[in-house]
Amino acid sequence: MLSVGESAHQVTAKNIVLATNAYTSKLGYFKNQVVPIHVQTAVTPPLTASQLESLERTSDIPYYDDRSVLYHLVFTPDQRIVIGGGSAEYCWRNDLEYCGDLSKISTLMLNELKRIYPSLADVQFEDTWDGVIGITMDGMPTVGVMGDHKNIYYGLAYNGQGVTLSFVFGQVIAALANDKNHAWLDTPYAHNTLPFMPGEPYRWIGATAMTGYYAWQDRK
Ligand SMILES: Cc1cc2nc3c(=O)[nH]c(=O)nc-3n(C[C@H](O)[C@H](O)[C@H](O)COP(=O)(O)OP(=O)(O)OC[C@H]3O[C@@H](n4cnc5c(N)ncnc54)[C@H](O)[C@@H]3O)c2cc1C
Repeated sequence: MLSVGESAHQVTAKNIVLATNAYTSKLGYFKNQVVPIHVQTAVTPPLTASQLESLERTSDIPYYDDRSVLYHLVFTPDQRIVIGGGSAEYCWRNDLEYCGDLSKISTLMLNELKRIYPSLADVQFEDTWDGVIGITMDGMPTVGVMGDHKNIYYGLAYNGQGVTLSFVFGQVIAALANDKNHAWLDTPYAHNTLPFMPGEPYRWIGATAMTGYYAWQDRK
């Protein structure tokens, strides 16, 4: 039986699968272990043939840099550039609504794009968006099953690396639910105990100090 929010609604289910990554704390699970951190991404309009040529690319392979709060960049099949990174922020009480300044981060990313490719000096973004990634103190994700009735399956806390890993964890959950083995059940990701994170105001102070330290390190 799962109570949703403070309303009277209830959902009855034999099993629950928590595949809600950074949103999970709002359901009452992992609320002292998995924290939502806000990160942003932007996309250019399709580039013209001459803009593309000016990049002098030798490959379409996506790449990222080695900063702590790294930038990552992808060329899409319809000739756009998707760039993300450069900022990571925590919002008070695990808030999923972004508390920062999206236009400021957009400018940050645009400047980085133009630093990498000076020939794109006239390009503007078509869109910039914010989202949340699920972060843990030790950077570890987790997959497994818990609860008194062993019927709450979970795969989450990807620490910003979940695009591929979430698919693998989906398979692990399917194996667990069907009483089958899976190679990843023998890895440190399975049924690991995520470190405790204190509540507010310590969480905000810690997260802000940590993201501030990474930003300072990257500026150096
Ligand atoms: C801007 C940005 C850039 C990123 N870049 C990369 C990258 O380059 N590489 C990489 O590997 N990862 C990246 N990530 C992280 C990656 O997106 C996540 O790790 C991945 O999406 C996690 O997948 P998931 O299915 O577990 O969770 P999500 O994709 O977060 O999906 C969770 C779903 O649960 C839903 N939900 C939440 N609460 C409830 C509820 N109460 N009831 C029902 N549904 C609910 C949400 O609406 C959402 O659809 C990025 C994330 C962001 C925000």
